[in-house]
Amino acid sequence: MTKIKELMKPRLLTGDTPTGRLHLGHWVGSVENRVLLQDDYDCYFLIANIHAFTTRADRPEEIHQSVVDILLDYLAVGIDPKRSTIFLQSEVSALSDLTYFFSMLIPFPRLMRNPTIKDEIRDKGLGDNYSFGFLLYPVGQVADILAFRPQIVPVGEDQIPHLEMTREVARRFNQLYCGVDSHAEDQDHLALGGLFPVVEVKLGRSRRLVGIGQPNAEGNLLKMSKSLNNAIFLSDDPDTIAKKIKSMYTDPKRLKATDKGSVENNPLWIFHEAFNPDQAWVTEAEQRYREGTIGDVECKKRLIEVLVDLIEPIRQRRLVYENNLDQVLAILREGTAKANDVASATAKLAKAAMKQLYF
Ligand code: ATP
Ligand code: MG
Repeated sequence: MTKIKELMKPRLLTGDTPTGRLHLGHWVGSVENRVLLQDDYDCYFLIANIHAFTTRADRPEEIHQSVVDILLDYLAVGIDPKRSTIFLQSEVSALSDLTYFFSMLIPFPRLMRNPTIKDEIRDKGLGDNYSFGFLLYPVGQVADILAFRPQIVPVGEDQIPHLEMTREVARRFNQLYCGVDSHAEDQDHLALGGLFPVVEVKLGRSRRLVGIGQPNAEGNLLKMSKSLNNAIFLSDDPDTIAKKIKSMYTDPKRLKATDKGSVENNPLWIFHEAFNPDQAWVTEAEQRYREGTIGDVECKKRLIEVLVDLIEPIRQRRLVYENNLDQVLAILREGTAKANDVASATAKLAKAAMKQLYF
């Protein structure tokens, strides 16, 4: 691809918090799209290590290991450093500059209404003792995104409130500091002189994949999450996958193969629908499960095969990168240098718009 063509490609930004390894939820929610969109977009993938401190400031070694894990996962799933930029949040200081400025554009009560923040406080058991920095992280995320002025942001459903706030900050900044009219359409902001695009959210084919654990007290299945001990990781070996599937939550009322089973709200079938390439079998087997004419063992065995087929090539590629850690870290260093150039250029433009350039 020629340089000019590359420069003309629209930009894409997204990322992950290094609180563990990538799992199937990341795959269907966002990572699959990232791999597919690499040719059409100038892609930036952020490892949000500052944000990892919001819930585990007491565990720096763990965060360090997770940064390496996420980096290995990116390369193993097929994020190609020749086409895409992978970078580390804490080494791009313009992101912190922008976080501070943007925090002035978000009313505090607005932040506290963010439903994802409420869900995370509940599901991660943060109680009343969450840090001030935890509340700040969605603002940090606004800065992570807008610093790259991307057109699209591929994420899972839980990120929609954060993306809505990102869109609000972009509009507000453009109106306050760039003279964009308050009635301007979102898509016209850049043409009207706005600095920041009102970004588009791109959801994956499964917006919120559930985990393999029990439902919560209200009877809702929790999302698969690195922090909730309910994930199947893209680096799990076949034995681990088999163990997790065999002991996963299914319909608790179905005690034997001849009992009628419920397909709805049942991770066994949610996973078959999301990952099994043989959807004709899935439709037929779901019917038999409802009627009580198919055993759990057969359905789980199929699911194990499907997941091993998906994950094993990723795990094998990961092993190769694990044995070349120096090369892998060099990819992060180079990506971070490139990201720094882009983000500091944006921060400078933002400061110019805010009349804060003096020398
Ligand atoms: P943590 O438990 O630390 O919050 P996480 O598993 O939620 O970790 P994140 O790093 O917060 O992962 O999310 C990275 C991206 O993956 C986000 O775009 C998020 O929406 C998406 N994602 C995470 N989990 C899922 C899921 N279960 N289904 C769909 N998308 C998901
Ligand atoms: Mg999360």
